[in-house]
Amino acid sequence: MTSETRVQNDPFVSSEVEKRPASEPRFSTALEANGTGSLNAQIRTDWTRAEIAALFDLPFTELLFRAAEVHRRHHPAGEVQLCTLLSIKTGGCPEDCGYCSQSVTADSGVEATKLMDVQAVLQRAAQAKDAGSQRFCMGAAWRNPKDRDMPRIVEIVKGVRAMGLETCMTLGMLTPAQADMLAEAGLDYYNHNIDSSPEYYERVITTRTMADRLDTLTNVRAAGINVCSGGIVGMGETREDRVGFVHTLATLERHPESVPVNALVPVKGTVLGDMLAGTPMAKIDDIEFVRTIAVARITMPMSMVRLSAGRESMSEATQALAFLAGANSIFTGDKLLTAPNAGDDKDGALFAKLGLVPLAGPEPMRAACA
Ligand code: SF4
Repeated sequence: MTSETRVQNDPFVSSEVEKRPASEPRFSTALEANGTGSLNAQIRTDWTRAEIAALFDLPFTELLFRAAEVHRRHHPAGEVQLCTLLSIKTGGCPEDCGYCSQSVTADSGVEATKLMDVQAVLQRAAQAKDAGSQRFCMGAAWRNPKDRDMPRIVEIVKGVRAMGLETCMTLGMLTPAQADMLAEAGLDYYNHNIDSSPEYYERVITTRTMADRLDTLTNVRAAGINVCSGGIVGMGETREDRVGFVHTLATLERHPESVPVNALVPVKGTVLGDMLAGTPMAKIDDIEFVRTIAVARITMPMSMVRLSAGRESMSEATQALAFLAGANSIFTGDKLLTAPNAGDDKDGALFAKLGLVPLAGPEPMRAACA
């Protein structure tokens, strides 16, 4: 049987994928992409909410199939990037994000600490590298960094980068001057999540607006730093809010190179943790979570989609579906800032079971622009 006949006869093989010449690389670094399923459509930033809602509404297996096709077109299938996240300044944050145990408004028992010393951070980065991490993310519970903190932050970025790790920082809102300082230090990514849809955002945070967040993303982009921006699902929002969340990111002038999708970890003493406790909404439905990953993958084909907080309470099967849907990055280690995480041993076992290996090469979107 020729390969052409096999493709025609095999309902499980996409003839569009198989029609690609054998000489074509296993993932494309060209800025071409996949729209709703056509392998030749351009990367789109003009998605409408109706189109995104239609993707969410697809039969689950159809959505998964389309997302997996997009994923394989742009990313090495079977490779998942390992990242480590460290809280370099914990607690005492003046913002009132309703999901966060580090807010001063939360009665969560998280104690406020000072900004860590440079050497202490570098030691933790070295451990992360030894454990196989490619990327080291650092978070400080601030509304924004003070100018007096910037020299230490710059030293940390330079030190972690010198170890050959990709660097990401999340420090709150940034001025253009602060963004420039971080860019000069060589920071690879800045994380600033939009959290949810513009409508639901206002019910979760009152101390800064979605527009403030987008301003920081603009400053980060203008400084030449890669943008990491995503959000949290399972905060009591509706499907329409999840549509609005993906729509906001997928219609930015340039897609974020990195899109973390978190499942809420409801913490006692936080506004959302207490509001959702004991209700059916205390945990996002697994299939709906995977749908969100799949729609993010289809609408932002080249971005790294990061399976972030909430993984610890997900079954192996849900995580496997999320990888199939296009998630290609996880955080390793026992903790995510202050929330529990799956832990290296569990992840190693899961990778072995699923036949996954850590991402070895560069991130496609960054490689395309190098
Ligand atoms: S999410 Fe960040 S900004 Fe919001 S309260 Fe927590 S530490 Fe502060």
